[in-house]
Amino acid sequence: MREKISVIRNADELKTWTRQQKLAGKTIGLVPTMGYLHAGHRSLIEAAVKACDVVVVSDFVNPTQFGPSEDYATYPRDEAKDLALCDEAGASVLFVPTVETLYPNGQDSAWVEVNHLGDHFCGAQRPGHFRGVTTVVMKLLLLSHADKAFFGEKDYQQLTIIRRMVSDFGVDCEIVGCPLVRESDGLALSSRNVNLKGNARKDALVLYRGLLAAKALFASGERRSEALIEAAKNVIESVAEASIQYIEVADPDTLDIFKDKTGERVQMLMAVRVGGVRLIDNMRL
Ligand code: AMP
Repeated sequence: MREKISVIRNADELKTWTRQQKLAGKTIGLVPTMGYLHAGHRSLIEAAVKACDVVVVSDFVNPTQFGPSEDYATYPRDEAKDLALCDEAGASVLFVPTVETLYPNGQDSAWVEVNHLGDHFCGAQRPGHFRGVTTVVMKLLLLSHADKAFFGEKDYQQLTIIRRMVSDFGVDCEIVGCPLVRESDGLALSSRNVNLKGNARKDALVLYRGLLAAKALFASGERRSEALIEAAKNVIESVAEASIQYIEVADPDTLDIFKDKTGERVQMLMAVRVGGVRLIDNMRL
């Protein structure tokens, strides 16, 4: 029978545990999260459980990926619920580090810098965000001795950047991308959805509807970037409370932006603020 999940809070303790697993010949899966887990996270954990002997889920709201005016303080947290979900999904360890155990030297830390992939989209609007992400993910990869690490396509730019980081540093870990999970009405699952109050929950559907409008136009043969972006924009701008931060079409592998005409493989990426909540979404057209 599978052992009950354990909680580890200390970096050295995690490192020792994962090293022991390695020595025992076990393969290790890692699922990094910021907690407040939902069915999207669960799909990653289930994929990890299927592919690996033991699975570590990390639950850490990483302060270094938030800007000073962002929602670090109000980011939702619920460790007890997260633990129950991880246990049910078959994870072995929930790693809930303190800030001090992951950043023992505070701001005076070594950082993993991001290449040009971090300049566009979310990176342009959230300076330092991806440096915080790559740094914490590198720490987690090293502490967990993971053979495979699982990331959602929900954060498409993040996944692309992490793939590149792992390849550039020669990290011996396979990065597995998992499909974006949506609510039945199309809203991309996100921990931040809990902050969509009143009409904002319904208004938030414009991201999905905008993506579908662009996808339909693409299917009809349209390849002009501007026309595809316009199709999504028109839908989103029909809701007064939605304000677009960016919408772009890009190569799905390199994330190079199609300025004029697209190719045949196209990823549309967007960030939109709805009722004060910043939401991101993306879709293969
Ligand atoms: P977060 O806790 O939001 O930092 O997300 C942790 C991991 O879960 C990341 O790899 C996300 O891409 C992934 N994730 C979040 N939401 C979804 C979703 N709706 N579908 C699939 N993966 C997701």
